[in-house]
This record gives sequence, C-alpha cells and structure tokens, in this order.
Amino acid sequence: MAGERGPLVSLLVNLPYYLRHSPARPGWLCVVCNSNWPCALWRGEDGVREDEADVMERFLTSLLREALVDLADEQGQSAPVVVRRILWFKELSDADATAIERYIR
Ligand SMILES: [Zn+2]
Repeated sequence: MAGERGPLVSLLVNLPYYLRHSPARPGWLCVVCNSNWPCALWRGEDGVREDEADVMERFLTSLLREALVDLADEQGQSAPVVVRRILWFKELSDADATAIERYIR
C-alpha cells in the first residue's frame, strides 16, 4: 500500500541508530547514550513491527549468550531479566525467559 514501509526499508531507516548506538561490553551500555543497551534510540520510537520481529529476534538472540555471560554470570544480574532486556519487544514471563536462557546456553 502506498506510504507503508516494507520491513527492509523500515530496518534501513533505523540503520544509523543500529550502527552508532552499539553496546560496549562488558556492561552492555550504549556507547553514545551510556544507558542500558538496547537504548531507547536503538529500539526506535515505534518499537518492532510484526513483520520485523523475526529478523530482530534472530539478531538479538545471536548476542544473548554474550550478554548472559557478561551480565548474569560475571555481574550477577538475574538471567531472566537479562533475557527480557535484550529481547525487549517480546512479552516474556520468567518461565519463558528461563527457557530461552537454557536454550541459548
Ligand atoms: Zn544509545
């Protein structure tokens, strides 16, 4: 439909934020905002569209193991909290987040 963006175009629009607002390990703080990554600018105003969710989930899940090592194993944060932080756009119960953590590890 005219005026609507496809998922690729939408992701490309956000690309400058994805590239600049990257996480610095081991704290997983945004290198620009110095806030918990993914920061608000990285996440974008509109969140994740349904047709982008699969790509976004695959990308973020690829980072999740390292985030769990740094934030949960090394810094003692709750693993389900770390999972929910990285996969912020998914509504995950503690049980869901724990299952994902076990699958990832
Ligand atoms: Zn940022």
